[in-house]
Amino acid sequence: MTLTAIGFEGSANKIGIGIVRDGKVLSNPRHTYITPPGEGFRPNHTAKHHQSVILDLLDKALKEANISSLADIDVFCFTKGPGMGAPLIVVATVVRTLAQLYNKPIVGVNHCIGHIEMGRLVTQANNPVVLYVSGGNTQVIAYSEHRYRIFGETIDIAVGNCLDRFARLIKLSNDPSPGYNIEQLAKKGVNYIPLPYTVKGMDVSFSGILSHIKSLTTGSKQTRRKDNQLKSNQYTNEDLCFSLQETIFSMLVEITERALAHVGSKQVLIVGGVGCNVRLQEMMGVMCRERQATVCATDERYCIDNGAMIAQAGYEMFQADKDRKGMSLDDTSCSQRYRTDAVYVNWRED
Ligand code: MG
Repeated sequence: MTLTAIGFEGSANKIGIGIVRDGKVLSNPRHTYITPPGEGFRPNHTAKHHQSVILDLLDKALKEANISSLADIDVFCFTKGPGMGAPLIVVATVVRTLAQLYNKPIVGVNHCIGHIEMGRLVTQANNPVVLYVSGGNTQVIAYSEHRYRIFGETIDIAVGNCLDRFARLIKLSNDPSPGYNIEQLAKKGVNYIPLPYTVKGMDVSFSGILSHIKSLTTGSKQTRRKDNQLKSNQYTNEDLCFSLQETIFSMLVEITERALAHVGSKQVLIVGGVGCNVRLQEMMGVMCRERQATVCATDERYCIDNGAMIAQAGYEMFQADKDRKGMSLDDTSCSQRYRTDAVYVNWRED
């Protein structure tokens, strides 16, 4: 029997709707809310953006999948969290309404688990150590006994948030994404500027690196150290992009390697928006080769937040649910802080 799942994702500045049928992605359109250079995205503005495009995007998802009516969908899935409150709620409200209109089961999905299940589907990585790196999340994850366990994570801001805020500092464009533009500039960097390298056990910290760059480039009050301050003729933005990437990616490779050694896995799966970065994939590849392991990465269609990943994880959850009832409406609330290890993974063995 075939099973068709639709997934709605809107936990940050992208809104995506994907349709998945038994491991096949039928459609996966997405729309990104892009702010002017120097600005981030605020929850209320982002929620309004999602609200204004969600129904058109739904039409597009159905058309591309060649599905004429939502009545032909078996289960409605949405991102329950983690993410920004207002955008999450906008999407959840639409999905709750549609599921009731069409009298279909509804499944709330953990966003991080959406990334993991989509990565496993696309790359066929069976039991990898997962590095999840994005604008809102930074975690090293491995599966054990029905949970995706967090081995290491950021203790302050996410790696993608560090990149986004750095891009704002040097007024880089947010189109198509700040991280992409940093990656392109970094290729032209020649001088490595030493930056704090902050690994604490299995965890990492990025906020101090950002303050340090601020103090180097602007001599900001809190951290002003005249002798350390760089003169503008001593570095270029390209050098800064290059140095920042090399430093923070090394930190991520270090904690991933430690998890890989501990778990005894031979695969690293990189997911999340920052996972598109080819330099990060290269650096991870060097480490993996030394351990006879392989890197599994996906391209921007699946790395970046999208609807299909929510459909895929929801599909797995629904398949494993014997009654096929989905969640009760009371359980379809959103949670801004919804940890990866809070979910009981009953769709995987051992
Ligand atoms: Mg994400």
